[in-house]
Amino acid sequence: MAVLPIRITGNPVLHTPAASVTEFDDALRTLVADMFETMDEAPGVGLAAPQVGVPLRVFVYGWEDDDGVESRGVAVNPELWISPPPVGPADEDDESEGCLSIPGERYPLRRAELTILTAVDLDGVPFEIRAEGWLARIFQHEFDHLDGILYADRLEASHAKAAAKAIRRNGWGVDGLEWMPGVDDLDD
Ligand code: ZN
Repeated sequence: MAVLPIRITGNPVLHTPAASVTEFDDALRTLVADMFETMDEAPGVGLAAPQVGVPLRVFVYGWEDDDGVESRGVAVNPELWISPPPVGPADEDDESEGCLSIPGERYPLRRAELTILTAVDLDGVPFEIRAEGWLARIFQHEFDHLDGILYADRLEASHAKAAAKAIRRNGWGVDGLEWMPGVDDLDD
């Protein structure tokens, strides 16, 4: 297994819809094992294949709720049903979201409270997970990555402006930038 470099916003692979997985082979197993290791090292609660430069419809997630119950898994070729998102401005404290491809930044974003994820596993076996709250948010965030959408693309105008400014300030938004979990210090 290996920790992989994470692509930073501006890299075209992050802004392009990914392709469905057709080969359930050792290469896919290695990719997913490396994605879990990269997510844990970052650390993050989710990681999509385009973030490690692979334009395939795969994401991993790993998140522990307040009761210490861990949700962890991989979704290949997922579909996502979402409940109607609540209206009104996002809450700074409870709805701030981050992304390993926009490292170190966080902005509030409204998300649907309930999702139903259907996908297949590494053997191509279908499964379904009903998620609420933060896990539902993770699924929405990671699923978006597979369509070439970053959470920064969904922000309300004022937060979108702040995010665009931060991206410029960091010199991101151009092709070819990446960072290495466990190596690069993101505390700027
Ligand atoms: Zn992300």
